Amino acid sequence: MSLAIRENVPLAPLISFKVGGAARWFAEPANAADFAEAMAWAKERGVETFILGKGTNLVFSDQGFPGLVVYTGRAFTHIAWDRNRATAQAGALLHTLVTQSVNKGMAGIQHLAGIPGTMGGGTYINAGAFGQELKEVIVSVVSTTRDGRLITRSNAECGFAYRHSHFFALDEIILETIVELIPGDKVAMQAEMRETLRKRKEKQPLHLPNAGSMFKRPPGQFAGVLIEQAGLKGFRMGGAMISEKHANFTVNAGGATAQDIHDLSSEVIRRVKDQCGTTLEREVIFIGAFLPWPR
Ligand SMILES: Cc1cc2nc3c(=O)[nH]c(=O)nc-3n(C[C@H](O)[C@H](O)[C@H](O)COP(=O)(O)OP(=O)(O)OC[C@H]3O[C@@H](n4cnc5c(N)ncnc54)[C@H](O)[C@@H]3O)c2cc1C
Repeated sequence: MSLAIRENVPLAPLISFKVGGAARWFAEPANAADFAEAMAWAKERGVETFILGKGTNLVFSDQGFPGLVVYTGRAFTHIAWDRNRATAQAGALLHTLVTQSVNKGMAGIQHLAGIPGTMGGGTYINAGAFGQELKEVIVSVVSTTRDGRLITRSNAECGFAYRHSHFFALDEIILETIVELIPGDKVAMQAEMRETLRKRKEKQPLHLPNAGSMFKRPPGQFAGVLIEQAGLKGFRMGGAMISEKHANFTVNAGGATAQDIHDLSSEVIRRVKDQCGTTLEREVIFIGAFLPWPR
């Protein structure tokens, strides 16, 4: 076996919230053969697997993950261009693809600048911002099953929806995403990208660990507005706090545990439901065991 499987690897440094326990086993594949090896290793031992990108949309519990974490956030990052088509490996940063496309004068994803995750994570969740979604430019996605079978799905077969795809229900690893962009005005797009990054800096608490929007946008409403109306800006449980700058951002204000973040999000759901009648749905994915709130 050529792929290294490490034991008891702390996950907090790899997660944008900087919380959570360790992975019982941990592998960092660099190519499709490595992914197949990792899956075979886990299958042989009956071990659960979890695919981790840049960890910018999730929280592992303080007990960590008892199975094999397959980390794609550092290797497997190549982006190949053929005219207006790009094939991005799962570990490539979405922001890198955006920058490359804009600099090539290709339009369609310039407003996704500054989203800090990988193409694997972005495809899985159908990342979007400022009126653009990754699904609008995806042609097809190549994934692998647990037994190493490669599957290519067309855009329609991926079941993309608002912050959702069929990959939520499929036990597969996304290996490559193929996107097609349209020629645009390079200088205008560079300006749009700069403006997008400026808005993010102005509106988001980027100085504190967070995972972007905690809750999905309820139909016809904004989660941040509802949370603010419920008087929860600055509300704190343990080290987890509702940002003063943007109410839909929960931040690690110092020493937060994964349980603090989970408790706070549960309390926000409870209060917003009581005061505004809307049931918020989490966008951030919580993995592992969490105590219920209220206790
Ligand atoms: C400051 C900040 C701003 C953000 N702004 C936005 C925004 O504007 N819009 C937006 O949509 N999101 C935003 N996010 C959230 C996040 O960056 C995106 O959802 C991103 O696409 C997640 O990618 P990731 O690599 O971090 O995925 P992770 O958090 O590592 O994983 C997320 C999910 O994807 C799965 N996954 C990851 N890689 C693969 C793979 N190769 N195969 C199969 N499954 C995989 C994981 O198992 C997990 O279930 C923001 C986050 C932060 C911290």
